Amino acid sequence: MTTNRINLSEQNHPWSRDVTKALQQSFRLTQFRTNQLEAINATLSGRDVFVLMPTGGGKSLCYQLPSIIQRYEHRGVTIVISPLLSLMHDQVAQLVKSRGIPATFLNGEISASQRQWIMNDLNSSKPSMNLLYITPEQLQSSTSLNSALSSLAQRQLLARFVIDEAHCISQWGHDFRPVYSKLGFLRSRYHNVPLMALTATATQIVQRDIIAVLKIQGCEILKQSFHRKNLTYQVIDKGSKKQHMDDMKDFITSLGSSTVGIIYCLTTKQCETLAKELTASGIKSDYYHGDLDMNTRLRKQQAWQRGEFPVMVATIAFGMGIDKADVRFVVHESMPASLEGYYQETGRAGRDGKPAVCRMYYSYSDTHFHRTMMTKGSSQRKTVKQQCEQLHAMVNYCEDQTECRRCLLLAYFGEQVSSNLCQKQCDHCSSPATGLTMHTFTSDEIKSVVTLLEFSSDGNSITLLQLVDMCRGMKNKAITEKGLNRLNGYGKLAHFDKRTVERLLVQLILKGILDERVTGGKYSHIYIRVILFIAFSLLKKKNRRGKQLMIFFFIDSNYRLDQRYQPPINKS
Ligand code: ADP
Ligand code: MG
Ligand code: ZN
Repeated sequence: MTTNRINLSEQNHPWSRDVTKALQQSFRLTQFRTNQLEAINATLSGRDVFVLMPTGGGKSLCYQLPSIIQRYEHRGVTIVISPLLSLMHDQVAQLVKSRGIPATFLNGEISASQRQWIMNDLNSSKPSMNLLYITPEQLQSSTSLNSALSSLAQRQLLARFVIDEAHCISQWGHDFRPVYSKLGFLRSRYHNVPLMALTATATQIVQRDIIAVLKIQGCEILKQSFHRKNLTYQVIDKGSKKQHMDDMKDFITSLGSSTVGIIYCLTTKQCETLAKELTASGIKSDYYHGDLDMNTRLRKQQAWQRGEFPVMVATIAFGMGIDKADVRFVVHESMPASLEGYYQETGRAGRDGKPAVCRMYYSYSDTHFHRTMMTKGSSQRKTVKQQCEQLHAMVNYCEDQTECRRCLLLAYFGEQVSSNLCQKQCDHCSSPATGLTMHTFTSDEIKSVVTLLEFSSDGNSITLLQLVDMCRGMKNKAITEKGLNRLNGYGKLAHFDKRTVERLLVQLILKGILDERVTGGKYSHIYIRVILFIAFSLLKKKNRRGKQLMIFFFIDSNYRLDQRYQPPINKS
């Protein structure tokens, strides 16, 4: 929709006095945070607005406050489309109880009589509610709701549509929901009702998707930096199982065993075991995952929120709608599937603005879990290619040995910042790696890897670790039995330690020179094969004719590797 542009950061609009009064009296706050006033002014002036604000930034106020401003043109009921039942529950309870704002929700779970009451209210000449939270499913399927909305719009009593957690619209978001992608009809059906979309997901592609799907091109876009200055980011190599466990316990104990935190695990089983182990070692904790029924989940979340136990061990099912300000740490027991998810999950730490630590334990083998999930199609919301790209970006972040984590994270979301911003609040800035030297893997060395694969993938695929062993000239049974030790290229990287060769191979995978696949069965194995096999052979032929194409190709792909290479300590 089009409306004259107004100055969004000024407070001289007809509604400005009411807005200030609402902030102080209803919300008992003294000042706005970044972009809140702008969002409020935009929607009250009738503009569509897209609000991009980090988790904890205060998105709710952007639509809750305008919903009680009732004396101007865009007034009536504010409809909030929200993906989560628990989220609605909490928000509405808080609005009604502590702010005295008439609000309610409509979802599949409410009783017929409640539903009838809501419909009657919407259809009355002067609806009593300011805010109505609904699920996108209701909007999709309920004819009574849709006719009530049309009637409101006709009577100019539909103040605005709010799409909270709007990243659910995009397949590139971390939480895509097909039903969200149907919300485009709002703009076509309700020309004159302003829309407001809010999200904490910063990637450009998600933003473009949201604006395109909602058809709000030309909307006011309010963005801010995703830098969270009170969060410290760390990535720690897992080491052995015992080291991993001990380190987690030591870390939490060092913060004080009653310190509030969240530990994210990949599987439900891990959650349960870890929670038990922590409790046994004096760290009070409970677990939370998607296999628990709704009531149990709600009960656990509320118990944690009330401070009955400090540490929640959870899968990513524990997420949206957590409103706990004093979370002092977020631990990732393993690497998550994407940086989008990682940012969201770590974003739950330190919402009160006080320091908090985000520590992730990493092993490249964590990718196995994620790749297996991809092939199982458990997340059919994204294509395998999309998930693969996201996974590779995540691995890239973890494998980096020198760069400021904050810079890497922000760069992924399209923000270029200097590492000065970090103030040593990441593992790389606080203790820069020493003894980093340039090392060049020669083209011959890289070629030996590809040659090994070229011959060994003939009929039998090999795993990453097998390939590492082959490159390093190990003589274990699996290798000698198949005669892999006689292959060209075998042992050419024998002078490197295991981790270094693994890092090299991982880089080749990230750069798309090698490909990694999970092949069927219950006990999936990951195999590596050369995807550039044909290109490689082609280049080899050209090379024989004296062209240096392949050499250039590999030298180019080596370049970044060199800077990150840390030589093994020479014990001799
Ligand atoms: P988001 O939805 O962006 O993750 P919320 O809307 O849930 O964040 O707000 C996070 C917290 O910030 C809430 O506890 C809220 O009361 C608080 N908050 C929001 N706006 C302000 C403000 N202007 N001043 C102080 N606290 C605020
Ligand atoms: Mg929110
Ligand atoms: Zn840093």
